[in-house]
Amino acid sequence: MRRATPHKLSHKIFFLIRIFVSVVILFLLAYTSQFARIRTPDLKVWFFDIGQGDATFIETPNGQQILVDGGPDNSILQKLSSVMWPWDKTIDAIFVTHPDADHITGLISVLDRYNVKAIYETGVRGSTPMIIGLEKAMDEERASRIITTQGKSFEFDGARMDILWPTLDAIAKEKERNNTSIVIRMSYGDSSFLLTGDAQTEVEDDYAKLVGDIDVLKVGHHGSKTSTSVLLLKTIKPEFAIISDGVDNKYGHPHPIVLERLKDIGAMIFRTDKDGDVLAKSDGVSLQVAPVFLPF
Ligand SMILES: [Zn+2]
Repeated sequence: MRRATPHKLSHKIFFLIRIFVSVVILFLLAYTSQFARIRTPDLKVWFFDIGQGDATFIETPNGQQILVDGGPDNSILQKLSSVMWPWDKTIDAIFVTHPDADHITGLISVLDRYNVKAIYETGVRGSTPMIIGLEKAMDEERASRIITTQGKSFEFDGARMDILWPTLDAIAKEKERNNTSIVIRMSYGDSSFLLTGDAQTEVEDDYAKLVGDIDVLKVGHHGSKTSTSVLLLKTIKPEFAIISDGVDNKYGHPHPIVLERLKDIGAMIFRTDKDGDVLAKSDGVSLQVAPVFLPF
């Protein structure tokens, strides 16, 4: 039997080290290209199929993450795990449009599970168990708290958010919680979005003059006939309308009259109860909106 000489042995070890280094380099290249594939220069807005409620997740091109409302239960956690890396446990901002259970229940779970850096809210409170639970969860989070009212603007990595509602006066006096909803006009390059919470027609009449043209409308109050006035639609002329509502919900949302108004204005309608999760993507020039498959 021939034995390897020490000289041949060191050659073999050197050869194995070279293979190992090549494999590591290939792995790192694949890993970083995976990142490049996912971190496209697009702004992404997911309208989650969350049942009868609202949860909208925004990711900017450089990975800032913003959640507007959290839906009616903790199914938001599955949705987030579909669109975030498993090791990413930080959310840059949450917006609490108004403290109704179909918008805030999931936020309690999100605050429990994720490190939230900033909370944008109106300060409107109530005595429901969900509001008390949310308040406790927000107090325990070491997050900045920002009272969010008409006239304020925030910038997230090129995505500008102009707050159209509520006024300080509405926060102080309004008895109907829906009408204290934070209404956000978000613009990214040429693309514009209107996130309306559950604000009703009387509020729309007030902020309509501030909006301008809109590409994507998150239809107010789950398609209830108390929102989405003809006046608002004629002002914003949305190309796409997203209705966030539950299958066979007890409220009969969306109302046929709202669907009619949206069709009349020429908007392409997506409904989470029929289309599932919907993703809007914009590179600042072109915009695509379509249902998207999420694993959970
Ligand atoms: Zn609602």
